[in-house]
Amino acid sequence: MMFGEDENIDGAVKISGLMMVALYDYNARSHHELSLKKGVRLQFLDEHDGVWVKVRLTANGKEGYVPKAYIAPISAPDSQDWFFGEIPRRYAEQLLLDPVNQKGAFLVRLANQATHKYSLSLKDFSVLRGTFIIKHYRIREDDQGNVFMADSQLFSSIHELVEAYSYMSYGLTCTLAQPCKKPAPALPVISWETTDNWEVDRNKIKLHKLLGEGYFGQVWYGLYDDEHEVAVKTLKQDTMTRDAFMKEATVMKTLSHKNIISLYAVCTLQEPIYIITEFMKEGALLSVLKDDEKRETLDVNHLVYISSQIACGMAYLEMKSLVHRDLAARNVLVSDGLLCKIADFGMARNIEGEYTVQTISKFPVKWTAPEVLLYNKFTIKSDVWSFGILLYEIFTYGAIPYPGMTNAQVAQTIPTGYRMPKPTISFCPDPIYEMMHTAWEAEPFKRPTFEHLDNALAHLEITGHTSEYH
Ligand code: AMP
Repeated sequence: MMFGEDENIDGAVKISGLMMVALYDYNARSHHELSLKKGVRLQFLDEHDGVWVKVRLTANGKEGYVPKAYIAPISAPDSQDWFFGEIPRRYAEQLLLDPVNQKGAFLVRLANQATHKYSLSLKDFSVLRGTFIIKHYRIREDDQGNVFMADSQLFSSIHELVEAYSYMSYGLTCTLAQPCKKPAPALPVISWETTDNWEVDRNKIKLHKLLGEGYFGQVWYGLYDDEHEVAVKTLKQDTMTRDAFMKEATVMKTLSHKNIISLYAVCTLQEPIYIITEFMKEGALLSVLKDDEKRETLDVNHLVYISSQIACGMAYLEMKSLVHRDLAARNVLVSDGLLCKIADFGMARNIEGEYTVQTISKFPVKWTAPEVLLYNKFTIKSDVWSFGILLYEIFTYGAIPYPGMTNAQVAQTIPTGYRMPKPTISFCPDPIYEMMHTAWEAEPFKRPTFEHLDNALAHLEITGHTSEYH
């Protein structure tokens, strides 16, 4: 059948037989998969799950699976190098500010706002400030479906608009030069084979470098199938039973979010148990913040960007009724382009309402909400408290919270109403300190939701490298 079976997945109509194009190179990782070269054409055949689709290569008729995020319908804006879909404005800024992008680099993103459908983000050089800046422009649509940035210049499609502004600036400070470099999206799995069968043969894993050691065991940098970079946690014997571990891992495996570490696979048939996750090049956020060289490159916009990614990942956990229970800068991992992901779900539990524990002795007191210290009650609202402390860590470049105070002093003074003053180590914008304060409300229900924090951080306006809408 050439056309049929219309399915509405993620809002996009997927039609069997639809012509697609590869957006990135992809090396097949199992014999069920096909390798792709950016730009090759293929036919969509079937959707396997949220990650994989079955396709046929137009050139040689070969059929196999490829990652859904690596292809797009030829006619859709997604197939264009400059179209970045629904990405937050701050992420667009981060991508464009990367030195690989020159003056005139641009991207178009879905704005999904009442006032406009798309936004154009453009990198320019400000002679006045002696630095690159990012400008954002609203692209509006009229009743006839024409798109425009200036009322006098209407275009029948977003492609036409981009082409026109590549030749003429029509009031922009410069013409559109080249599309912003688009990083290939990380996959939440290592290969098609491990998607459903995630107990893998441990001989496929080579441990190369010890990265760190935690309470549950060691963390190694390793390669899967001699090729794919992974992080491997080796679980210390007797810290957890296999059943308890598998229960935990099964929850983790259901999570799929750009700001949450993906669990790729496990090896549980022998000791030590291996937990295989994606590898994050820059390591723990806490060490990135404390590194003198790296912190030089982190201004207040970067700090807000880091915070907003964590809030976004936590909003996803909140939506899934999961509680992290150990949110802190040491448990957030960083990769290229300041991509941040929440890690260490060793203590997370799928809960309904509240979850209580017997002992608080091993909890990091300075990150822990008072109701946890007093009544051992964990909820998503105690994670919000910890997020407030994490904001403090971010805006002090990794300082230990409550400087000069012991855990016992903190546990004593918090119930009397004491809260940390506004950090002075970096420029901490007032709205950020207000967020910390609301996160530290004594009454858990008065603390904001992560959904609210995510929204507030995504829309926080701070001057600097960026520029408000024109
Ligand atoms: P943990 O036992 O989870 O606290 O991990 C100990 C250290 O290993 C962390 O502080 C990181 O530096 C490093 N690490 C853990 N997981 C990863 C990962 N997925 N990618 C890169 N480094 C990691």
